[in-house]
Parts: sequence; C-alpha cells; structure tokens
Amino acid sequence: MQQKIRLYNTISRKKELFTPIVDGYVGLYVCGPTVYGDAHLGHARPGITFDIVYRYLQFIGNKVRYVRNITDVGHLENDADEGEDKIAKKARLEKVEPMEVVQHYTDRYHRAMDSLNVNRPSIEPRASGHIIEQQEIIQKILDNGFAYEANGSVYFDVEKYNEKNEYGKLSGRKLEDLQANTRALDGQSEKRKSFDFALWKKAAPEHIMRWTSPWSDGFPGWHVECTAMGNKYLGEEFDIHGGGMDLMFPHHECEIAQSVAAFGKESVRKWMHNNMITINGQKMGKALGNFITLFELFDGSHKLLEQAFSPQTIRFFILQAHYRSTLNFSNDALKAAETGQKRLFAAIEVLNSLCATKGANKSDFDIAALKTKCYEAMNDDFNTPILISHLFGAVRFINSVQAGKAAITEADLAQLKSIFDGFVFDVMGLKVEETPQNQENSHLNKVVDLLLNIRIDAKKNRNFELADKIRNDLAGLGFIIKDTKDGFEWELNN
Ligand code: ZN
Repeated sequence: MQQKIRLYNTISRKKELFTPIVDGYVGLYVCGPTVYGDAHLGHARPGITFDIVYRYLQFIGNKVRYVRNITDVGHLENDADEGEDKIAKKARLEKVEPMEVVQHYTDRYHRAMDSLNVNRPSIEPRASGHIIEQQEIIQKILDNGFAYEANGSVYFDVEKYNEKNEYGKLSGRKLEDLQANTRALDGQSEKRKSFDFALWKKAAPEHIMRWTSPWSDGFPGWHVECTAMGNKYLGEEFDIHGGGMDLMFPHHECEIAQSVAAFGKESVRKWMHNNMITINGQKMGKALGNFITLFELFDGSHKLLEQAFSPQTIRFFILQAHYRSTLNFSNDALKAAETGQKRLFAAIEVLNSLCATKGANKSDFDIAALKTKCYEAMNDDFNTPILISHLFGAVRFINSVQAGKAAITEADLAQLKSIFDGFVFDVMGLKVEETPQNQENSHLNKVVDLLLNIRIDAKKNRNFELADKIRNDLAGLGFIIKDTKDGFEWELNN
C-alpha cells in the first residue's frame, strides 16, 4: 500500500500532504556542521532527525538523494558578517592549516555519527569545493539587481528584494523590526542597510582562506554555499530542506532570498526544522559549561555526567521526543531512555525465540492494526514517540505470550517479527550494540551453523564421510554437537 506522509511545513505552519516533485524520487538537503570542533548533543539531533526522514522515505519505497554539506569556509563568528572565520580562528589558535582543522573535525564528526548509526548522506559536498558555483550564483543575483558591490565585497539588497517578496516569511520576522533592532550599527558598515547580508567578502590581508573573484580576493558569505550546492546536486527546485531551528534565521531566510533572486523562484518545497536540546533546562553554550560533546557522552567524561551513555541510548532518547518538540537532557532522562531501550531489545530477543501457540487460530492482539498504526505514526510528520508507544503496546503482548498467558498464530508471529524488524532497525535505525565480544560471537555462530547445515546436506546426499569429518573436526575444536528432530544444537565446551 502506498504511504502518504503529512509533513509540517515551517512556512505555512501547517501539516501538508507531501508529494515529491518526481514520483518515487526525493531530493533532501540538510545543513551539515561547521567543522571547527567536536560534535555535541546539538549535532546529534539534526543528524538523527534527518536520518529518520532519509530512512523512512526509503522504507516506503522512494529513492532519496540526500545532500548534507560540510561548512568549511565563510561561517563567521556569531553567525554575523563581521568577525573571524570560525575555522580560520581555530587554525590560528592551534597553529595548523585551516584544512587540517576541517579534515580533523570532519573525520571525528563521521565517527560520532557512525556510532549513532546515522547513515551517511548520498553526497557530502564541502563549501570550499564549490567556490565557482557560489560565484556564479552571486553573479546571477548581481545581474538581477538584488545585490550591490561595496569596497570589493558583495551584499544582498534586502530592501530591494522585499519590494516584491517577503523577507522573513520563514522565521516570522518583519523587516521593520529587524531594522529597529540593528539601527545602532548603521553608518559604521559598508552595507547600505544593517539587515543586508554578505554574498562575498573581501579578505583582509591576514585572512588565509581566500579565492580570486571579479570583485576581490576574498571568500563567500555563509548562506550562499547551501544555495549553490542545493542547486548543483538537487536542481533549481527540490523537495525538502532541513536543519536545526537555530538556522531558520538568518541562514535559511537568506537561502530563500538568494534562490528567488538568482532563479526567480523558491528552490525549496518544504522546510523542516528540528527543535533544540536544552541541558538541565538551560540552553547549551560554551560559556555555561554545559557543552557536552558526543564523545564525552559515550565515555562519561564530562563533569555533568553521572555515567557514560551508549550511542544507542542517545539515539533512543532523541527518538522518544517528536523532532519539533524541545528535548531536555538530564542524567535521569537518559537513564530512563536506557531502561526503555533495554526493555525493547529484551522483548525483541523474546520475540525471535517465540513459537506460535499450538492450536491457536486467532491471536490475542491485533497485529494488522499494529502495523497500520506504526505507519500512521510515521506518516504523521515522522512521529517517532507515538511509534515507540505502539511498539511498547506489543512488547507487553510479547511478554504475555512468552508467559503462556496470550496466544499468537503462526502468520501473526511472522508479521510481528517483520514489523519489529522494519520499524525498530530499518526505520528508527536502532541496533544491538556490537561489543568486540558479541560481534565475534555472532560471526562464530554463523560459521558453525553454516558448517552444520552443510553436514545435514551431506547426510541427505549419503556423503557420510564428509558429514563425519565436519562433526569430528568440530568436536576436536571443542564443539559439542547434538542431532535433533529439526536439525541440530551445539555448544562450545570451553
Ligand atoms: Zn545551510
């Protein structure tokens, strides 16, 4: 059955039926990290939120081209047009090349996201690798009269744009208010208006990351990279653009203005924003000392942590809240997530060993309805907390079947296994944490099963010589093998 997703659209502030521009193919762009430090909880949330979008869209049969960029140039301090480039500053302090900073933190970002079982995007372009594309967009915006040059820099003319368009439609801001809030800066800047934003900045002599351009030796403004890379890989119009709520203004607001000014239309069909994570009720910030990196969470080394939390616990914790709700981190909340996740995984283990109830022609639980409800939850703007609550409804049932207090038919058992497999592992991307120990064991188990299945085939083909050799050689290695009615059982005698 074809699933129809209703998606909250940040601009209309309503849930709308989502239909991709091209049937069966979805273009998804998400703003990735600015790589000048380790990923923290605030990176885990968009990482996981859009991983769910990516996974579920594929789960229901779409092809997805998922572009998530790496910002490695142009993102200045305080998200403003003045100040030092975040990466250049880190490079200066550490006395290394800016691209060493970029490589180092990109590698660590990948490691953190891999631990969280966040799938890598289809394309991960870097801003510094797309300077020409950014210059082309800037030239288009200049040619269309929505930007001006000042002193070698190029600025977007927000007032001109606002004559026929609505700057602020995404974040709900009004130009008058923006002007009132920033009036103090006027007169000191080469910008005509304080709310204009940089498309190209002329580099000061000491600035390391610089490229030639028709306007000056300089570097692109922060916002133009996403317009350029979105356009390059997904086209002038694409389905979904995502990111954290903190990027709504100015970053995404400016992206809308740039695409309208360059291409004469908005590039993005639907804007999706994940809400923020607070820590013990406070906003996260370096100055507040509550900035917990993912690696510190994994090994419990931050002073605010009472214990280490596994990547899967963090993933489960994030999925327990809807992506548009705020999520408050605390030791207790993470411990509760850990308990919940263990209960879910224990039930899956029970489920996998469960047998259908003998003689049952009806189950004491409506499995077909469960399946429908799981899809409905995900179709309703990716509502993972509701999905989890439906799955926990089934967990209670699984435990009663095991205790012999409820019945399940053969067909329903197979269906239930496939629901858990699909929604827990494929859609929510949870996984049984692989310690080196259990990873080794699971491989060993598969190899021994494989050999014993070959032995069964050998016996069927009356090749007793081979069958005995497998048995004797395994016995020589310490395996105790027992033939049973349906096959075999074995254990390793240590
Ligand atoms: Zn972006």
